[in-house]
Amino acid sequence: MDNRTGLPVVGMVGGGQLARMTHQAAIALGQSLRVLSEKADDSAALVAADVRIGTHTDLAALREFAKGCDAVTFDHEHVPTAHIAALAAEGVKIYPGAEAIVFAQDKQRMRERLAELGAPIPRWRPVTDTSDISDFVAEHGLSWPVVAKAVRGGYDGRGVWMVGGAEAAADLVGTGTPLIVEERVPLRRELAALVARSPFGQVAAYPVVETVQQDGICVEVLAPAPGLSEALAVQAQQLAIDLANALGVVGLLAVELFETEAGIFVNELAMRPHNSGHWTIEGARTSQFEQHLRAVLDYPMGETSLAAPAVVMANVLGGQPGGISIDERLHHLFAEDPGARVHLYGKQVRPGRKIGHVTVCGDDMTTVRARAVRAARWLQEGS
Ligand code: ADP
Repeated sequence: MDNRTGLPVVGMVGGGQLARMTHQAAIALGQSLRVLSEKADDSAALVAADVRIGTHTDLAALREFAKGCDAVTFDHEHVPTAHIAALAAEGVKIYPGAEAIVFAQDKQRMRERLAELGAPIPRWRPVTDTSDISDFVAEHGLSWPVVAKAVRGGYDGRGVWMVGGAEAAADLVGTGTPLIVEERVPLRRELAALVARSPFGQVAAYPVVETVQQDGICVEVLAPAPGLSEALAVQAQQLAIDLANALGVVGLLAVELFETEAGIFVNELAMRPHNSGHWTIEGARTSQFEQHLRAVLDYPMGETSLAAPAVVMANVLGGQPGGISIDERLHHLFAEDPGARVHLYGKQVRPGRKIGHVTVCGDDMTTVRARAVRAARWLQEGS
């Protein structure tokens, strides 16, 4: 509790844009987020009042950080589960817990657990020997390419390989990276189902969205997923709710899904505010960032319904150096589209790096999408 305000102190491990936007939500709830940041110029460290510099792999730093926090949570999934378990054993309210977050850290454990729970997943197997990928292809009568994934540490498509044949498969296994392999799913498109769960067990589900990926990076999110049948939307939401309950998640759970002719399959789990939920800041009655805070503090959940019939979020990636300044680009964008809502993360521009996003709300998905994409491209390229 912060004695100055009588309101809780929430600590977030990691100083990226997710912590920055969570901080923004915390302000409205009368809180100031405490941030454990690697560097003083990380996205959230630039704006939060209570910043501790330290690294998430350092148990002593985490212990010190957690002192006086009513709840501790994460802006990424890289804190070792042993550290999370140690803090929980010492009485720290740290969410999601070690027993849940492991399924967002380790793709093999995630696939094993989802299989146990009977969730729909692509055919897959762990890889240990050079021949395992080829054997998998032969065993299931698949055609190449298949998808190999690093068990740990991948993000934004890094750690995902489309493997075209036996030779490439053997080369990849030869690098020594722990891998799983799965069939290449014939995607109609990708969806995401976002839910939040509190320690009390209340669960709230957001409308299911379509996510558009380019080179493994999410570039657009369309809410609600256009043309998704009510039946499939309910199935996806129920699946996410069931997983949040079964895995004991506290906070947000984003379930990344593949939609195919044969139905939906789970691709990935994330247990934190997620890129597929940035649209909720303007596009839903409660933003995912506020919802995450409410969940880890065991407050009742906020309303999740759409604030407009069509909402599109487009990511702003760092463009090539040169051209007019980002500040000048903003001037032009605001002149051109006063309704575009811009979020910049205070990050140094590097080509392909997520440096911000734009959200547009409106009545017609086609128009809204065109505006959001145009705005993001303008900020990215300045042309
Ligand atoms: P990351 O953890 O880097 O986000 P993902 O497992 O989500 O990696 O994969 C990144 C992207 O690769 C997915 O969004 C999807 O477009 C594609 N992909 C991943 N797995 C498969 C698969 N089994 N079949 C087809 N495409 C896939």
